[in-house]
Amino acid sequence: MRSPGCCPIFLYFRGESIKNEKMLRTHTCGELRLNHVNEEVTLTGWVQRSRDLGGMTFVDIRDRYGITQLVFDMNSDKELGEKAQKLGREFVIQVRGKVAERSNKNKIIPTGDIEILAEALTILNRSKVPPFTIEDETDGGEELRMKYRYLDLRRRVNQKSIVLRHQMSIETRKYLNNQEFVEIETPYLIKSTPEGARDFVVPSRMSKDGFYALPQSPQTFKQLLMISGYDKYFQLVKCFRDEDFRSDRQPEFTQIDCEMSFVEQDDVLNTFEGLAKHLFKVIKGVDIDDFPKMPYEEAIRKFGSDKPDIRFGMEFVELSDVAQGKGFKVFDSAELVVGINAEGCADYTRKQLDKLTDFVKKPQIGAKGLVYVKYNEDGSFKSSVDKFFGQEDLKAWADRFDAKPGDLLLILAGEADQTRSALNELRLEMGNQLGLRDPDTFKALWVVDFPLLEWDEESQRYHAMHHPFTSPKDEDIHLLEEAPEKARANAYDMVINGVEIGGGSIRIHDRELQKKMFTALGFTKEEAQKQFGFLMEAFEYGAPPHGGIAFGFDRWVALFAGRDSIRDVIAFPKNNAGRDIMIDSPSSISEDQLKELNIKLREERKE
Ligand code: ASP
Repeated sequence: MRSPGCCPIFLYFRGESIKNEKMLRTHTCGELRLNHVNEEVTLTGWVQRSRDLGGMTFVDIRDRYGITQLVFDMNSDKELGEKAQKLGREFVIQVRGKVAERSNKNKIIPTGDIEILAEALTILNRSKVPPFTIEDETDGGEELRMKYRYLDLRRRVNQKSIVLRHQMSIETRKYLNNQEFVEIETPYLIKSTPEGARDFVVPSRMSKDGFYALPQSPQTFKQLLMISGYDKYFQLVKCFRDEDFRSDRQPEFTQIDCEMSFVEQDDVLNTFEGLAKHLFKVIKGVDIDDFPKMPYEEAIRKFGSDKPDIRFGMEFVELSDVAQGKGFKVFDSAELVVGINAEGCADYTRKQLDKLTDFVKKPQIGAKGLVYVKYNEDGSFKSSVDKFFGQEDLKAWADRFDAKPGDLLLILAGEADQTRSALNELRLEMGNQLGLRDPDTFKALWVVDFPLLEWDEESQRYHAMHHPFTSPKDEDIHLLEEAPEKARANAYDMVINGVEIGGGSIRIHDRELQKKMFTALGFTKEEAQKQFGFLMEAFEYGAPPHGGIAFGFDRWVALFAGRDSIRDVIAFPKNNAGRDIMIDSPSSISEDQLKELNIKLREERKE
């Protein structure tokens, strides 16, 4: 809920010049108001736009703080006027002049009540015509903007997001510092970490055949810091994961990484719910509700997702028992029949329903088809399966959904996991269509009690669902040997508006239990020793009980900034193929460098 009295941090700094500073300007382009009228000022910035009206030339000058209108009057100074007429877009200029009240006020910009009657103009630098307009609604496509990212970053939308990111990092540090957390840097040149993605590797010149790996997270180091006695650690830290293209991932991204000693799960959750509330309050001006806790099993059953968007209900209703056995093959052969109630949508047209059917049949969603039931206003039912189900049957379904006349039931059937995940997509789509996913409403929750392990068909072994240092729930430890897939973990995710913002766990701090975990994961003794021997050894020197969490900082900023992609809130992001097209990287290195590193490329790679 938005709290009326609260004042969120300005997304822009006020931009008031620090007086005694000797700078090329007296004020910024976002600063001047009516109370400055008649003052003699000097501004510097970029030419946003210039309008030549013959006798008068109007120039908008821009900097990080805003835009101010300059007026060059031919009648008062012809030479100056002519100089202004020649200004091109993005020229860097310095202007001296007098602040005047505008007769034609611009209500959209904060400086819109005034203009500067220019008296002197210095061109500090010229600019080529930029390849796209430096406006919020630019004409530049993604590729072009990324190639000229330094120009893209001049656009106000981007400057706002980058400044917001800065504010969030400062406020995170303030909150954690107040809670006595210590920020400690951990190394980037390390060896493989346990997050389960592919490592980026860096050849070592000095060790000849040795390679460093870049950290997928500081996981092992932060656990070692707990053993060292720094009982509250955090770090805003770059992490590196060499993953194949998946939407909205970056090979390098930033975490707010945290770890605490002498805590249980609720202590960690409370501390970081506090961080989230602090950021909501100071950055967004929002008092957010307490976060409910939802077991993983419930999240999957009710929403088909471990990151449910709880801004709206539309919970899943299972129908297998009432819908099977009536001769409809699709249902009869399904492991699960499950649906949602799109309230008030009984008037959906054939075309709209066909579109929904096409939506669920998209390969990335993967349903075979969609069954609908319209609960008409007159109390009758119309469905796509009328041949198999009478009005009575459909009424029984509607009761399950607590449906009212006017509602529309949308039902999927098939293999349970796959059907739930398709219905999750359909629920989110309906949430969008019905305007139930307002970006200015925020609902957060903790998803808890994740399974400890998941079976991987490809490698035919268990993988840690979080990572191998996550502790099982005490009451489930015996399952590690008996039925590993049933063991639940002391692991948790923070989810806001259907976005996984962070996740963590209480760790194993006992060497014997850690050994059991490695065995369940199919590590041989030697493998475990080679990869994590240092940590196992450290566990022998008084490891305190500990646990932690890491937040995807980029994603959190994107959520607060209302931007679609984490790329929008990273100053210099990579594209979907992991390339930085501005600096043209990755790129080849010289023969000499290769030689020094003892690396020989295969012939076909050189071309
Ligand atoms: N290292 C974990 C991750 O990157 C977070 C944690 O368990 O604290 O997901």
